[in-house]
Amino acid sequence: MRLYPVKTPYILERLFPHYTWKRSSSNNSIYLTFDDGPTDELNPFIISTLKEYEVKANFFCVGENLRKNRGEAMKLIDQGHRLGNHTQKHLNGWKTGMKTYLDSIDLCQENLEQLGVTVKLFRPPYGRITKKQGQAVLKQGYEIIMWDVLSGDFDQNLSKEKCLKNSMKYIGPGSIIVFHDNVKAESNLKYVLPRFLEQMLSEGNNFELL
Ligand SMILES: [Zn+2]
Repeated sequence: MRLYPVKTPYILERLFPHYTWKRSSSNNSIYLTFDDGPTDELNPFIISTLKEYEVKANFFCVGENLRKNRGEAMKLIDQGHRLGNHTQKHLNGWKTGMKTYLDSIDLCQENLEQLGVTVKLFRPPYGRITKKQGQAVLKQGYEIIMWDVLSGDFDQNLSKEKCLKNSMKYIGPGSIIVFHDNVKAESNLKYVLPRFLEQMLSEGNNFELL
């Protein structure tokens, strides 16, 4: 059984209006995001696929992976992609105290700054962040980037055909879609990403950076 919504329920967007769920768009822009990387395993595939289609994306990186795979992170920056913060250790906000959570964001941001990143974009791992944590993070000047379409690429019970269908079904102008730079997503992503890009571009959409 699927335990996550592919399309973010409108009520969540209403409850947390200070988070970014999608961008208003008048020109068919879509925002492509990849969470959890950079990994040695999957990042080269993502980079080469995006290059082939001349598409730029946002990557919400785990600080520990930035440290471990610095070369991959540099390649992302060289290719014109934009990196954001996904905590140092991929923490679940609902299970983490305020200080530990904020410290983990600080640490991840330090790793980003060492790579020359100046933007303050934050995506909470699992989308789980308490209201108080959210307020504190906003106060520190971050934009909190959620999503309105979750591809489910990480779900190993989801067929790659269904994952592609999910990815395309709810996309609209201004949509923010989540994929993963994470080995769990490998088989789905390798099938879905090129087909998704091909289809979206052929329908006249363009991809922009957050
Ligand atoms: Zn994540």
